[in-house]
Amino acid sequence: MGYEAVIGLEVHAQLKTASKIFCGCSTTYGAEPNTHACPICLGLPGILPVLNKKAVEYALMMALATHCHICSESRFARKNYFYPDLPKGYQISQYESPLAEHGWIEIQTDHGTKRIALSRIHLEEDAGKSIHSDAEDLSSIDFNRCGVPLIEVVSEPDISSTGEAATYLKKLRSILRYLSISDGNMEEGSFRCDANLSLRRKGIEGFGTRTELKNMNSFRHVQKALEYEIGRQLDILESGGEVIQETRLWNENEGKSFAMRSKEESPDYRYFPEPDLLPLVVHQEWLDVIRENLPELPDEKMKRFIDQYGLPRYDSHVLTSSRELADYFELCMRETGDAKMVSNWIMGELLRELKRDDREVQDCPVSPSALADLLKMIKEGTISRKTAKDVLKEMYREGKSAKTIVKDKGLIQISNEAQIASIIEQVLRGSPDQVDKYRKGKTQLVGFFIGQVMKKTHGKANPRLVNEILKRALEE
Ligand code: ADP
Ligand code: MG
Ligand code: ZN
Repeated sequence: MGYEAVIGLEVHAQLKTASKIFCGCSTTYGAEPNTHACPICLGLPGILPVLNKKAVEYALMMALATHCHICSESRFARKNYFYPDLPKGYQISQYESPLAEHGWIEIQTDHGTKRIALSRIHLEEDAGKSIHSDAEDLSSIDFNRCGVPLIEVVSEPDISSTGEAATYLKKLRSILRYLSISDGNMEEGSFRCDANLSLRRKGIEGFGTRTELKNMNSFRHVQKALEYEIGRQLDILESGGEVIQETRLWNENEGKSFAMRSKEESPDYRYFPEPDLLPLVVHQEWLDVIRENLPELPDEKMKRFIDQYGLPRYDSHVLTSSRELADYFELCMRETGDAKMVSNWIMGELLRELKRDDREVQDCPVSPSALADLLKMIKEGTISRKTAKDVLKEMYREGKSAKTIVKDKGLIQISNEAQIASIIEQVLRGSPDQVDKYRKGKTQLVGFFIGQVMKKTHGKANPRLVNEILKRALEE
């Protein structure tokens, strides 16, 4: 089509501190409205904010994990605007001097690894929440979220497709979760994204005019909203028009975005340095301690899985998408030792079950050692792979062990050669025409015979033995 997409994302992630960023109020999600609010987060006259050290530590962890330059001194500023959910009349944020700059995150794309540059990571406080009720024709305000610590992670416009945008967001969230500094829950609003998008003719260096999309609360919505916006801008450009720089709101129900305000209408926030907070100075010694205590991150874990277990890159990538999934794999590995087999079963059967129930691996009813027991039974030839798939489904549903299910249902694989030979003999005797055809050269009929044997044994015959003995019998 001659155009390419240019996307830059601004992500707000709530930090999982126990208390708010400038006061001692709890940050627990879902509490009764306005029970976690005090004069400081309500902005009453005469208050003094005090910076939460843990919030700074968490922000620094993210900055280090994303290869940022940490600014030894950063500042807080007041971003002034009027809105009912902002009782102070300003939000404390970092503006001209952020905590960290110039980092990057790597994502896996169809064309290999791609590095997305980060322009900055800064700290700020969240605002409250307005709850609108059409039925009662009124709006209520919950101040519990006022002053909850956020980091804002701003990417450079390095993202070139909606797929890359989703991959980038998932990777960013995965890093936050590996670090245990944020829930990254889009539905609960602890992970929010504004997307900036412009189009430009392929091969051109400069950027086109961008629009900013707000109000998307799932990865799927982000992708849909961006796709819609690409189509909209393309229509404008192809018909010789000009894109206007504006903020647009995504409406999921209608599958469309709507103009919210143009650049001219955008508010002047009259930023100025926050007079109640000192500059934030980060000492090297503290930074060193934080760096030393960082957990193994997704990229490192992925490389280790390739080296240590000899797994393909794709498997390693999927298995390290969350810390819990990676732990699950490693616990299972400890008991079986066959990496590719464990990986196949987790990525295939297990993730399929989990996905169907919309469950995370930490809530999986089949423990890693229960799965390992099942895989051992396959390796020992006690059950066939096909039977094992059914057994796993039952383990998942009933929470029983593989051994119990196999015993109760009499699923043990038939590996007795004499027994298999006798069943094969019955099958061959029952289909003389097919045997004749096979012997005259129609060897693809072997599948038919195997099918018959499996039918007679309810899928329990050891397939390797069936194959061997069948071939021998047919060649007699
Ligand atoms: P603002 O201060 O208006 O928010 P920034 O320069 O901070 O603007 O950019 C905000 C986001 O917009 C960043 O993620 C950046 O990568 C992205 N961005 C900037 N210019 C473009 C563009 N032409 N097309 C797409 N995204 C852009
Ligand atoms: Mg911005
Ligand atoms: Zn408070």
